[in-house]
Amino acid sequence: KARSDTRHFLAFYNSELSEWQREQNQLERELREALADGHFRLYLQPQFDGRGQLRGAEALIRWQHPQRGLLTPGDFIGVAERSGLIRPIGYWVLEQAADLLHGPLQDTCLMLSVNVSVHQLRDDDFLGHVTSLIRERQLAPERLVLEIVESLLVTPGVTSRLQALRRLGINLSLDDFGTGYSSLRYLQEFQVDEIKLDKVFIDPLQHQDDVPLARSIIALGKALGLRLVAEGVESAPQRQFLQKHGVDILQGYYLARPEPVPSFLDRL
Ligand code: C2E
Ligand code: MG
Ligand code: MG
Ligand code: MG
Repeated sequence: KARSDTRHFLAFYNSELSEWQREQNQLERELREALADGHFRLYLQPQFDGRGQLRGAEALIRWQHPQRGLLTPGDFIGVAERSGLIRPIGYWVLEQAADLLHGPLQDTCLMLSVNVSVHQLRDDDFLGHVTSLIRERQLAPERLVLEIVESLLVTPGVTSRLQALRRLGINLSLDDFGTGYSSLRYLQEFQVDEIKLDKVFIDPLQHQDDVPLARSIIALGKALGLRLVAEGVESAPQRQFLQKHGVDILQGYYLARPEPVPSFLDRL
């Protein structure tokens, strides 16, 4: 009996697995088409300083899928990473950001933050790509921020590439700070310019006037001389707390949602 149960389970498990695999393969094919046919869209979520002044935006990718509508990264970044397609896709995002800094944002001092996957950082060509992008578009590198998340995949090669990017003048930001297993070790291992307090630390400020954990992370960032960004700001009390404690930059639905590029440019 036990054996036949196991066999049934395995049969079920295998069919589920291949079903999953089929979906992944299908998605991968569609991602390739999307890249070739220009179905990705750049959205920008405004970021504001403590006085409420627009100070830049985070670039967030969307996929205008011909059948399924506008997809957010949660629907496809995983497959993009596993298939390696995140490299060309990530490069597309970087190029879009560079075009904006070079074009419509040229006469402003706004900054653009771009999310970079560790898969991109493991690529030998990444540094060269970014360097030539900066040179071709004559960008001020200090207006570009690369957001990276903690990952077990950070190797010495990745670390030295990050430092090289920073020497170019690009800003590095630790995204989703505090949610990984080794946030503090990261701060020890390579230099960054900014930390982004993850939404999970901002959420409790909806209902509590003080959250010692959020306050401590802010104090830590300040002690290290880093710029502090809060993401996921959804209400007035949260904004008030963050302003009071000197968080430099705020981002969240309460202030502005991610929007297509033309809407963002209307703000200027
Ligand atoms: P992230 O970098 O932490 O980006 C913030 C996410 O939080 C965005 O989701 C944004 O829309 C959402 N958000 C912003 N403010 C609020 C708020 O007040 N409340 C709530 N509930 N959510 C808020 P999105 O656009 O779905 O992106 C999800 C993740 O996908 C990003 O997290 C980032 O890790 C990844 N991602 C986005 N674009 C790219 C990209 O171009 N390349 C790579 N490698 N990853 C990307
Ligand atoms: Mg980010
Ligand atoms: Mg984040
Ligand atoms: Mg996040």
